[in-house]
Formats: sequence, structure tokens, C-alpha cells
Amino acid sequence: MNTKIWLSPPHMSGLEEKYVREAFESNWIAPLGPNVDGFERELSRYLDGRHIAVLGSGTAAIHLALILLGVTRGDEVISSDFTFTATVNPIVYQGATPVFVDSEMQTWNIDPELLETAIVDRMKNHKKPKAIIFADIYGMPARMEALLAISLKYDIPLIEDAAEALGSRYKEQHCGTFGEMGILSFNGNKIITTSGGGALVATKENFTTKAKFLASQAKENTLHFEHHEIGYNYRMSNVLAGIGRGQLEVIEERVAAHRHNYRLYRELLSDIRGLIFQSEPDDHYFSNFWLTSMIVNEEEAHFTSQSIIGILGEDNIDSRPLMKPMHMQEVFKDHPAYLNGNSEFLYQNGLCLPSGSNLREEDIARIVEGIRKVSK
Ligand SMILES: *Cc1c(COP(=O)(O)O)cnc(C)c1O
Repeated sequence: MNTKIWLSPPHMSGLEEKYVREAFESNWIAPLGPNVDGFERELSRYLDGRHIAVLGSGTAAIHLALILLGVTRGDEVISSDFTFTATVNPIVYQGATPVFVDSEMQTWNIDPELLETAIVDRMKNHKKPKAIIFADIYGMPARMEALLAISLKYDIPLIEDAAEALGSRYKEQHCGTFGEMGILSFNGNKIITTSGGGALVATKENFTTKAKFLASQAKENTLHFEHHEIGYNYRMSNVLAGIGRGQLEVIEERVAAHRHNYRLYRELLSDIRGLIFQSEPDDHYFSNFWLTSMIVNEEEAHFTSQSIIGILGEDNIDSRPLMKPMHMQEVFKDHPAYLNGNSEFLYQNGLCLPSGSNLREEDIARIVEGIRKVSK
């Protein structure tokens, strides 16, 4: 059997160990300490001076963002339909109802026109959505200007789920910094990792201050344990923050490697008809291309995305279909959804290729050879 090629495995730089060793030597094996402070400071520097709270996961960051915006039982929150379930679950944790909005086909992210239709319709029938959460899927920035304009027009706060998009930019501005708050993930498969972790990104410092308070059990500033609010155990460990500091030092190299994979796939597959890659609509978009993703136009290609996934699987290569839309998920099937068929089309016709920053050129050659076999 050929060696396994993973979709998006962790890629350590070697710089992490210094910070982790410091944590051990100073005995800061806790959800606070110098690496937590350092990682927050360094992320803030990277993200144009935004305020940062590092947390146990991206999901925890989304949950806290919703709490900070006052989302509660009976509220509605609009969400991308074409995303990972972690974007949506925290809405349900709060007892609120997710309302799904489909994608536009240029970035594959939430469709601003359909978003506006959804807002107007919710306001007509019911009440104003409390927040909008949108994802930059596979690292591709969403339609930022249109989304910000809608947020302003209807006075509904935006949360940017940039879990997959650290290092991506729109008009030179970093993903994660658009909207009221942004969130990042450092899960093992993401562009940089702390094995598991996440961050809340905010323009206003009172959001991150409150997030840190809620994330450490909402302990009031007394010697005994005094609580006036329900808290959570959501802080990042000082050991893991050490891994994050070492990873952040090489973020631009990681982004460059993902972009290199993407370019190489496109180049090597350019003669095969019917492959449509997710791509940057114009020069203002800069994707980290976390996962190289594409649609197979079956009529032109004479094969399907499923057949690629199948043949790569036989050669021990990990690839997978695009996100299954939220409105098609059993758990969310009764929630309101504003659809145009795009996310369903993407799911049924697309796939993600192995995209790790530690992927070698010979791995890409092996993957391309597999795809050629299907296309014969
Ligand atoms: C990974 C991911 C999350 C969740 O992050 P965790 O750190 O795994 O909790 C949220 N949204 C999207 C789009 C993701 O890809």
C-alpha cells in the first residue's frame, strides 16, 4: 500500500517546542500564563491590532460571540448554509433559531442578495435577526463590502467565522477582522494548529475582556468564589498557546505553501475538461487556499467528483465531498432556509483535494495521476 496522504494534517515548525518547554520549566501548566498572553499579543499584532481572546476551540469562540451580542432563547440568527456545523451549533446552544442563507457561486460563501431577502422576509413575518454569522469557506473571503453594507443598513451585527481563513485577506485586510467580531480555529486540520483551540477577535476591547471573564467560569474579582453570571471553561491552556506561538511564526510560509499546492493542481490539471476550481473573483481577494476545492462538471468531464474520491481512496489518498449544506442536515431540517440551489449543487458536484502545507510535489503528482486515471 502506498503511504497515506491526508487531507490537511498538522505541520509543526519545530519552533513550538521552545515555548512548550518554557511552560514546563516555569510550571505554567494552566489555562493562563505567559504563552497565553504572548499568543494573544502576537495574534493581535498579526491581525492589525485587533483585541484577541484565545480559547479552547473555534466553537467556543462562536458561542461567546453570540452571548456577547445578547443572543438568547427565541432569537433568530442568520447563518451561512454552506459551512461546517460548528458555525451553527452554538446558535442552538443559546436556544436561538438558525436561519440559513445559501451561497453565491463566485466565492461559494453567503449570497448577499439572498441575505437581504432573508432579512426583509424575517422582519416582515416575525422580527429582526439578532446577528449574522458567515464563513469564509476553504479560506476564501466572502463578499465583505456587500455584507458590511447590509449589516449597516439593517443594523444587525456580523460575526465572521474565519476558522478556515487565517492569513486570507480582502483588500489587504485580514479575514477574522471584518464585522463586529471574528473567530479563528486552531484545530489540528486548520492552517495553523494548537492541536485544539480557537480565538475571538474583536475591534472593541470590552468584548474580549468579557469573553475572557466568561471563559474562566465568570469568577468575580474576590478571594472566595463569587458568581453573578453563568460562566464557561473555555480558556486555552498555556501549553497549547505555546504551540500556537511557534505556529504563528511561520503563518506566511504556511499560506504560501497552500497557495503553491493550489497553483500546482490547477497547472497540472489544466488540460482536463470540466474541472472548475474555487477561485479568487478578482485581485482584491487573497485566499489562503486552506483546501484546494473544485467542482466537476459531469457533462464536460464525463466523470463525477465521486469517481475521483473513489479512485484516490483506493490509492490511500484522503479527499472528500464539499460541505453538506446545513439545510440538508437531519438536525436542522426544520429550520428556515433561503435557498437558490447553489450549496446543494456544490455538495453534489464538488470535492476537496489533499492540501497540507507539508504535501510534497511527488504527492501532488500521485494525486494528479489518480485524477488522470478517472478522466481516461
Ligand atoms: C473548524 C471550523 C469551526 C470550528 O472550530 P473548532 O476549533 O474545531 O471548534 C467553525 N467553523 C468552521 C467553518 C470550521 O471549519
